[in-house]
Amino acid sequence: MSLTPREAAVQAISTLQPVAARIDLTKRDVTELYGENVFSMAVMRDVLPKNVFEALQRTLSRGEKLEVAHADAIANAMKEWAVARGATHYTHWFQPMTGLTAEKHDSFVVYTPEGGAITEFSGKTLIQGEPDASSFPSGGIRATFEARGYTAWDPTSPAFLFDGTNGRTLYIPTAFCGYNGEALDKKTPLLRSLDALNKQALRLLRVLGNARPSHVTSTVGPEQEYFLIDRHFYAQRPDLLAAGRTLFGARPPKGQELEDHYFGSIRPRVLAFMMDVEGECYRLGIPIKTRHNEVAPAQFEVAPIFERANVAADHNMLVMEIMRTVANRHGFHCLLHEKPFAGVNGSGKHNNWSLADDLGNNLLEPGHTPEDNAQFLVFLTAVLRAVNQWGHVLRVAIASPANDHRLGANEAPPAIISVFLGEKLTEVVQGLITGARGASRKGGVLNIGAQALPPLPRDASDRNRTSPFAFTGNKFEFRAVGSSQTIARPICHLNLIVAESLDHMATQIEKRVKGKVSLHDAIQAVVQETLAESQRVIFNGDNYSKEWHAEAEKRGLPNLRNTVDAAMVFADKKVIELFSRFGVLTDQELRSRHTVMLENYVKTLSIEAHLTSNIAKSMLLPAGLRYQRDVADTLAKTREAAKGVTATAAESMLKEIAYLTSRLKETVDDLDTLRAEADSHHGDVPGHAKFCRDKMLPAMDEVRAAADALELAVDDRAWPLPKYREMLFVY
Ligand code: ADP
Ligand code: MG
Repeated sequence: MSLTPREAAVQAISTLQPVAARIDLTKRDVTELYGENVFSMAVMRDVLPKNVFEALQRTLSRGEKLEVAHADAIANAMKEWAVARGATHYTHWFQPMTGLTAEKHDSFVVYTPEGGAITEFSGKTLIQGEPDASSFPSGGIRATFEARGYTAWDPTSPAFLFDGTNGRTLYIPTAFCGYNGEALDKKTPLLRSLDALNKQALRLLRVLGNARPSHVTSTVGPEQEYFLIDRHFYAQRPDLLAAGRTLFGARPPKGQELEDHYFGSIRPRVLAFMMDVEGECYRLGIPIKTRHNEVAPAQFEVAPIFERANVAADHNMLVMEIMRTVANRHGFHCLLHEKPFAGVNGSGKHNNWSLADDLGNNLLEPGHTPEDNAQFLVFLTAVLRAVNQWGHVLRVAIASPANDHRLGANEAPPAIISVFLGEKLTEVVQGLITGARGASRKGGVLNIGAQALPPLPRDASDRNRTSPFAFTGNKFEFRAVGSSQTIARPICHLNLIVAESLDHMATQIEKRVKGKVSLHDAIQAVVQETLAESQRVIFNGDNYSKEWHAEAEKRGLPNLRNTVDAAMVFADKKVIELFSRFGVLTDQELRSRHTVMLENYVKTLSIEAHLTSNIAKSMLLPAGLRYQRDVADTLAKTREAAKGVTATAAESMLKEIAYLTSRLKETVDDLDTLRAEADSHHGDVPGHAKFCRDKMLPAMDEVRAAADALELAVDDRAWPLPKYREMLFVY
């Protein structure tokens, strides 16, 4: 008997050996390898004339415009550096609203009239590119006649060399905008939010009497979860190929119940992949730190050390890209989708976030002196207020059809945005609100600026894995972020709402001080008042429980269950005002994002519905019917062979299979009817999105339920799709 494609895959995988990494880390000194492909500040200090380097530094720290002559000098130095290392091309690298990265390569070569070739790269080409790029989503910002987009160099994120098999390319991080400077990407608003945050944080620090820092930024460490499956299986799953998630697949007898994968020993092929990824990351100066097995079978995590938000966002895009390409080299496919497999955990990207000043201080670090503690409590209060006031702005930042399968499901942070503070800090907050003695404190009312805080625990044991937004000792962990999305949007929204809160607190404190209240009393009063207003957002319990959902509703916290509901936040008057007041997105830019989000929802669900129908009709039903014929043959032949023989097994199996194939056919027919109906919503994006959510998604679930039942009834050899037990365990 010849092997089925699935059996052939299992056989091929059984003999696979770990693949050697491109960079042998046993032979290379990591400290020397680290950042070797980056045109970093250190390299620039070396290769640029002193006055040019200083001009660039002024641009970075004060936003001063760079002179053309200086830009030319930088461009030339960058080219020399890149060409000396084998680069032939350069590209502006940007992040359009697809949520992916984009690039269009150009050669450094200029052809001379004499028939020769030289390399050239001007300041103008460094600073601005015209990739045209008219086919990216713009949410209506660009009519086709003015569709051209521009890329603008972002000097705050260093250029780097990216290796291909046959050559190297210089990548220049850029922002992407329209003719009139409208943001058409995810990076521009992030940069603008960092400006807003810097301005408001400095203002509040000054009000508090701290004149030392001259810059504040947000720091981010994104922990990236992902799945690896063998390519032999991947190639046989049209749903994974086109949708990034399985649309079919019965639950395996064993999933993650035994919790034997989490932090388990890493299999050799996977470890080889991880080390290969790390080598590539080191070269690009991406500070990778941690690797481990995650909760679901075949699920893993990689985490870097935190960096400035803008660089962390670029680096995370690179990490995802590197993982995808390196996985192929190792015979794996890297699944970054939020929910590739039903019934086991999905993947997130915990965004560890804090505020840092230019003197190296973490503003969310509880201090050792009363002044430090006062400052910490004011900033902590501002974040609590921000999340309470603008939880829906955080919610929309993580909305996507893929993350919908994760948020609110019984294994990931829910769609209700609350804050986990931990017992100790909650006690402190309560003490501040009531002005009463905190249980853990000896003597006296908790008085900001006059007393030290009790020590706050920072070990993992105190953490609440169910919280979407948790304080973890000296930073917040935004856990609801999806594994495949760029962190630019969640971090942008977080920076923005915190900037608004810092502004609010500074104004309130200033007002009181002007009214002849002492600074100390003003801070005490504003913190107390703000905490009292914001405390409903604090929740330390189990976020997955039904009780919390009821309780959250009582507290009036929004529960935006899916992307279609969440997208409405972009149309909220107060939200529009928030984005424009702090110069992050104009009304028009925000509206375009609303449109892009809903369009993407419709497209994603339409593709998935189409795939569901295709696979069910052309792969699963035929398999079911063939098996049905086999059983029918068996039944007929058995009866023929001998009179009175018992044929109940064949008979009842035939009944069952016939029922299941009929049900599958009916459910697919229903889905196809709806798909045809969906066309009538053409031109009405919100209506179409609602139709997809309310009609198509449930119809797809019906098809899946019917198919999964059939999978369990049909001869294993006859089933065409690699099964969960194979994809998740055979590698
Ligand atoms: P774990 O959560 O696994 O116990 P850590 O708390 O040490 O580990 O760190 C998790 C992530 O949080 C890492 O990416 C780390 O760099 C990041 N992190 C630590 N401090 C900060 C900070 N001040 N700002 C942003 N991210 C931080
Ligand atoms: Mg963590």
